[in-house]
Amino acid sequence: MLELVDVKKYFKNNRAVDGVSFHVGKGEILALIGANGAGKTTTLSMIATLIKPDSGGIYFDRQDVISNPELLRNNLGYVPQEIALYPTLSGYDNLCFWGKANHIYGKRLKQRIDEVSKIINMEEAVLNKKISSYSGGMKRRLNIGAALLHEPMLIIMDEPTVGLDVESRNQILDTVMELKKCGAAIVYSGHYMEEMEKICDKICIIDKGKCILFGSKKELLSENKGLEQLLLEAIRRQ
Ligand code: ATP
Repeated sequence: MLELVDVKKYFKNNRAVDGVSFHVGKGEILALIGANGAGKTTTLSMIATLIKPDSGGIYFDRQDVISNPELLRNNLGYVPQEIALYPTLSGYDNLCFWGKANHIYGKRLKQRIDEVSKIINMEEAVLNKKISSYSGGMKRRLNIGAALLHEPMLIIMDEPTVGLDVESRNQILDTVMELKKCGAAIVYSGHYMEEMEKICDKICIIDKGKCILFGSKKELLSENKGLEQLLLEAIRRQ
């Protein structure tokens, strides 16, 4: 569904992304991992068509996204690191806002808010409260919900569980698994190795902008080797 081929992005002399290639299919979760500043967010921003690569290819269903970003935009759910919600509005009104921003209106919007609130496990009484009264975990779940209203087939998640307690993190992981079951392809970036190991099907390790390892969880991990060790070994080999 999504394929990156030798994608590069430099900011002046900073080789933020310096040759990243991977592919992820329908119903698969790709774990994008690497140290702080490795180039994960820049990679995700290029997939989300927010910034243009300097070179390389990004393909969605084999079609070139760089020259035709609209191809992907209607099918993309982007969950950014920062919470993109209006604190003085209710959860419901925030979902209405994001639905309309994605050209969903009327009955269809109501129906989608209903469906999405089930996926993110949020009841009506909670949705009717103002965002300012939400816990960190609730805000993050609603942030995910806002990205799902238009039923995207590709979902990009940039550290969706950062700063949350274990229970809230598990709720978000349940949501991610629900999306996988629905057939979405998911690119998931984060720093919690244990949770990423649990949910991922594929792994891409980035170090100093370069993709240093890509493969399936089956081929890269074993009983004796978890994701954390894989990451350490891959970086040590550089
Ligand atoms: P983290 O895990 O801390 O979020 P990351 O892997 O997402 O890090 P990026 O945010 O992609 O890393 O940053 C990669 C490199 O590119 C860093 O050196 C960063 O300072 C640089 N960078 C990112 N965005 C810009 C920009 N707009 N202008 C200049 N440099 C940038």
